[in-house]
Amino acid sequence: MSLEVTGPRLSRFGPGLRAVLGRTLNIALPPLCPACRELVGANGLCATCWGKLSLIAPPYCERLGIPFAYDPGPGMLSMQAIADPPAYHRARAAVRYDDIARTLVHALKYGDRLELAPLMGQWIARAGHELLAKADALVPVPLHWRRLWMRRFNQSALLAQAISEASGVPIAEAALKRVKATAQQVGLSKTERAQNMQGAFRVPPAGKAAVAGRRLILVDDVLTSGATVDAGARALLRAGAANVDVLVFARVVDAVRAPI
Ligand SMILES: [Zn+2]
Repeated sequence: MSLEVTGPRLSRFGPGLRAVLGRTLNIALPPLCPACRELVGANGLCATCWGKLSLIAPPYCERLGIPFAYDPGPGMLSMQAIADPPAYHRARAAVRYDDIARTLVHALKYGDRLELAPLMGQWIARAGHELLAKADALVPVPLHWRRLWMRRFNQSALLAQAISEASGVPIAEAALKRVKATAQQVGLSKTERAQNMQGAFRVPPAGKAAVAGRRLILVDDVLTSGATVDAGARALLRAGAANVDVLVFARVVDAVRAPI
């Protein structure tokens, strides 16, 4: 007997029901595009969404990872990196923060679509292979315990887990603690964001050994102004980290400021 269970018809159901159906019928349901629920291709997204996703690839600013409109030659820095250098050494992102990237980030973060983390983590690992090759450990940007309690999981920790599986770089779980419940960054200016994040992170006594003299990579889902990872990097460097790089899934690319 053959059971015809096609993807588009099942796409009306949530992932939980699909999982139950798959188990009950003992069949592997065709995977659906996490952004639009169509059938997926080899990349983990449907062809349409994959075409709209904008992967970040060289040439980009050596420091910030912001893509250049043309290739200025190896090792070039963006004006932004020169005028306002971050506390961290280098940052890399898998994709630009556009509509599809936002859908994926929100699905993971607010939609409990935890199964997206491995896919997103693989893309991040690919974008950050250079950084990962020299890293001792990954440090997910922590949530304040109250937010963690409300959301039940830390999306950055899920991404770090996936990057760790793809790259073999271990996670330093206890390295960084969020000691200040910061206000939401949405709607704040760059200066206000930096002020908001001041003193937000601390390396607890139990995390000191995992930080001192180590080459670390901070992991977050989205980089907007960079205030969050900058504050995290400052705390790790203060505790003696040898180097702090940053890996995110998506970064905001300001078209006006990006190219030299
Ligand atoms: Zn799609």
